[in-house]
Amino acid sequence: MYTQCKMCGGKYLPPQVDCPKCKTSDVEWREVGAEGELITWTVIYAKSAGFSHHGDYVVGIVKMPDGFNVTASIDADPKALKPGMKVRLVVDR
Ligand SMILES: [Zn+2]
Repeated sequence: MYTQCKMCGGKYLPPQVDCPKCKTSDVEWREVGAEGELITWTVIYAKSAGFSHHGDYVVGIVKMPDGFNVTASIDADPKALKPGMKVRLVVDR
């Protein structure tokens, strides 16, 4: 979810309860689109202590249709990834 200011239309992710430009609390919650475009990615080999039990994993930056980028884990073989390919955003616990 992100917030959008009803006065200026500014979009914020992470969400903001007040618009930093207008200083208004008149914002609405909106759902991030499900599909975006992969900009870039990297494979994480060296992990922090909290992630040491995970295998190597891929993190990418995805351009969303709402106008902002999302950094997220990419559940795919990095050899199959290509810049600009469509990826689906899934919220996971
Ligand atoms: Zn605003």
